[in-house]
Amino acid sequence: MARSKKRDPYVCPNCGTRVSEPKKTWQLVSPMPDSQGRITITIMGSFECPNCGHKWRAVISKIKVGGDEVEVETKSKKKKLKGSSKPKEEREEGEVIELDLSDIEKEFENEEV
Ligand SMILES: [Zn+2]
Repeated sequence: MARSKKRDPYVCPNCGTRVSEPKKTWQLVSPMPDSQGRITITIMGSFECPNCGHKWRAVISKIKVGGDEVEVETKSKKKKLKGSSKPKEEREEGEVIELDLSDIEKEFENEEV
């Protein structure tokens, strides 16, 4: 039997018998989200070897859940891409902004006087 570097959680560490399914499973939710705002849910399993009776616990799988934050980020990215092109066009046309500034300056001048 070839031993892989990654331990198969279903294989008994004592005698190498592969268990078909864990006796019990539960989830561990990490309290801290990762850099991308995803929460890692670790699926743990409790195993009992039918061959030698050895009991062990192992990580069956890890699930990274992108919560509402990730969905918001992707939506905002799409909005930013659309939104960034439009304001540039407005700014190119936007001599209006310069007129607004001059109007404000005039207003200040009026106030000073
Ligand atoms: Zn065993």
